[in-house]
Amino acid sequence: EGVKLTNIHEGIDNSLLLLQNRLKSQPESPEIEVIKEYGDLPQVMCNPGQMNQVFMNLLTNAIDALEEVAIPHPQIQIRTYLQADDRIVISITDNGPGINEKIRDRIFDPFFTTKAVGKGTGMGLSISYQIIVKKHRGKLHCVSTAGAGTEFLISIPRLVE
Ligand code: ADP
Ligand code: MG
Repeated sequence: EGVKLTNIHEGIDNSLLLLQNRLKSQPESPEIEVIKEYGDLPQVMCNPGQMNQVFMNLLTNAIDALEEVAIPHPQIQIRTYLQADDRIVISITDNGPGINEKIRDRIFDPFFTTKAVGKGTGMGLSISYQIIVKKHRGKLHCVSTAGAGTEFLISIPRLVE
C-alpha cells in the first residue's frame, strides 16, 4: 500500500526544509548545526509519506531536546549507509541531554511524553515504531547516554515485499 522506490535523502532533506525555522537561531536558543553524512544509497522500497512522518518525528524530538538545554553548540548528525545484507541504515543523533535510563524503556509507548501539555502528544515514537517495524519489517533502536546525547537508528531492508 503506497510502497514505491524512494529516494531517502530527498525525504530527509524535505523534512529539514520544513523544520528550518526551528533549526535557525532563536531568541532563546542558538542555531542548530546539521551535519549530513549521506552514504551512496540506492532507491529504497518503502512508503515515502510514512517514512517522512518518521523523519519529522525523530528530527522534531532532536530539536526539542536541544532546545531544552543550553549547550553552546547544538548539533544534529544524520548518517545513512547501505549494509552488506542489503539493509539501509539511517542514524539521527543529537548532542542534547539524552534520555534518562529510568524512562528509556517507555519512550516507544503510546502517549508517553515528558513534554509540557500542548508540546508533545507522546505519539511520535509509537507511530514511528509502527511504521518502521510493522509496515517495513525494519528496526528502530535508541542509544542514549544521559548528559551526552541520543541516537536513533532506523534499519530497513532495501526491498520489502
Ligand atoms: P513527544 O515528542 O510528543 O513527547 P515521542 O513519542 O516523540 O513523543 O517521544 C517520547 C519521549 O521520548 C519524549 O517526550 C522525550 O522524553 C523522549 N525523547 C525522544 N527523543 C528524544 C531525544 N532525541 N532526546 C531526548 N529525549 C527524547
Ligand atoms: Mg515527538
